[in-house]
Amino acid sequence: MPAIRLTKEFRFEMAHVLEGYDGPCRNIHGHSYKLKVTVIGNPISQPGHPKLGMVIDFGDLKQVVETLITSRFDHSIAVLENSNIHRKLAGSDLEKVEALPFQPTCENMVEYFARLLAPSLPEGVSLHHLLLHETATSYAEWYADDNP
Ligand SMILES: [Zn+2]
Repeated sequence: MPAIRLTKEFRFEMAHVLEGYDGPCRNIHGHSYKLKVTVIGNPISQPGHPKLGMVIDFGDLKQVVETLITSRFDHSIAVLENSNIHRKLAGSDLEKVEALPFQPTCENMVEYFARLLAPSLPEGVSLHHLLLHETATSYAEWYADDNP
């Protein structure tokens, strides 16, 4: 059976602060993130199966990613847990403060997204790689092969 990679793109808006960073991202600001999720598997070949010929229904992949990532992080502000900015925002009335146990860089976010998604895919479908664009020209990638 052929192994086929399947990719779906997602977009979300997120603010972040890189406290302690020696560049402009130490200030509160936002990015229009683009996340490309690529999975790999064999197309279903069982006759009469409603998903015949599909590795995974694009709609099912969308639901997993929206549940775990985009609904949670869209219009949120991501900060490092227990940082000064986290302590300030914790006392505010903002609804979507994401305090993470790591600096919310593009690199760390893409690795975190991989950890969220990999165990949540249906049997026979594996996460192949993720590509997270922070800007139109800057992105980080996570590959299953690089992280056995
Ligand atoms: Zn930034």
